[in-house]
Amino acid sequence: GPALLFVKTSQGKEEGRRFYACSACRDRKDCNFFQWEDEKVSETRLAAREEYNRNHQPSFTHRQNVDRYKNFFLLPLSKRRFCQECQQLLLPAEWERHSDHQFLCNITTAQLKSPSQLLYPLENKKTNAQYLFADRSCKFLLNLLVDLGFRRVLSVGTPRLHEMIQLKASQEEEFSVRSLLLDIDFRYSQFYTEDEFCHYNMFNHHFFGGEVARETCKKFLYEENGERVIMVTDPPFGGLVEALASSFKKLMAMWSETEKEGHGNKEMPMFWIFPYFFESRILDFFPSFSMMDYQVDYDNHALYKHGKTGRRQSPVRIFTNLTPSMIVLPEEEGYRFCTACQRYVSSGNQHCEICNSCTSKDGRRWKHCALCKKCVKPSWFHCSNCNCCTLEKHSCEKNDVGCFVCGKAGHKRSACPSLSHT
Ligand code: SAH
Ligand code: ZN
Ligand code: ZN
Ligand code: ZN
Ligand code: ZN
Repeated sequence: GPALLFVKTSQGKEEGRRFYACSACRDRKDCNFFQWEDEKVSETRLAAREEYNRNHQPSFTHRQNVDRYKNFFLLPLSKRRFCQECQQLLLPAEWERHSDHQFLCNITTAQLKSPSQLLYPLENKKTNAQYLFADRSCKFLLNLLVDLGFRRVLSVGTPRLHEMIQLKASQEEEFSVRSLLLDIDFRYSQFYTEDEFCHYNMFNHHFFGGEVARETCKKFLYEENGERVIMVTDPPFGGLVEALASSFKKLMAMWSETEKEGHGNKEMPMFWIFPYFFESRILDFFPSFSMMDYQVDYDNHALYKHGKTGRRQSPVRIFTNLTPSMIVLPEEEGYRFCTACQRYVSSGNQHCEICNSCTSKDGRRWKHCALCKKCVKPSWFHCSNCNCCTLEKHSCEKNDVGCFVCGKAGHKRSACPSLSHT
């Protein structure tokens, strides 16, 4: 889809030079598209680009994949193979071509209904960063949605949540929740129909399936028979917040347009799952959002295991435009309701009488600094040189522009300690 317009700023200069680069790949190794905004591109280069794009299309269209799935489904167990190298379901006629590839045999229907277990997670840090929900977190999210009365979930970059909904809907008759998955990972088109999955780029709001796919999404957002919709998204953490926010606003607008009378000035309900240190960035774009204390856990994120297991705690939270008091967090996992704040908080999150708020962001008990007039991390001290609270070990004179991620001085976005897990 469309590239994004970036700006290269050099220190001290007001205006930098603007250029286009790939919206989805933050790493030039994955996609080396680069073009100065004012650059003249020759016909030959344009033609070469188009040629390159043609040669890099997926081997099957979504439609073809849907047909292939139907055929695959009819095969006896012994003939159901999945090529691990190509990440593709194989029909018997294709075995030959994949004969020197690793493959899995006897693919069961249960496996077909859990593609997120069958496919390997794309762990490329900067581009896909596929971190799958731990079962507990996924169940928690789903129960929460159901308890809040939602019957439709727009799953944007949440294949595992989508999968759990689909699975439950196929097993339990009284379970009437539906989900539409929007994701850039085209491998999922092998397992879901065009009404269940749209190939989508959340950094530029691009539907690869064109107008038809856009209509599918729009139709899904139309709340027939009072079936309320919520959007749940869990973007890669290296993603640009402004690009994501711009796409999410377009999805919200799509929802608003579905209602002739309009939804008044209501927003489409949303859960944006993201690390807590992005709080101020998200609130810049969505002032109606608040951050919940719930720690979202992942399967393949070694550092993100729940505190109780003795590992580091997850920094990932739920940002939502729903009323915080409605988001009930599980007491058995150590959350409690703060009546003053009217929301559920971590057990370690103490209500500060001076701030009149439960101020901890990371679940540990924070302390109030009278000089800073706010609560700060337990490990921080007030430095009279810098006139603020910071780590005890720091160099006072460092006074450069703050990090893009956490806003602190002394390091760049790429070296941000908040992101050290990746
Ligand atoms: N925790 C979620 C997965 C989150 S990982 C779950 O378990 O369901 C991030 C997801 O965003 C992945 O599924 C990845 O394929 C998708 N993604 C990455 N870049 C994207 C982009 N540019 N547009 C849409 N989806 C993207
Ligand atoms: Zn193969
Ligand atoms: Zn409180
Ligand atoms: Zn305080
Ligand atoms: Zn202080």
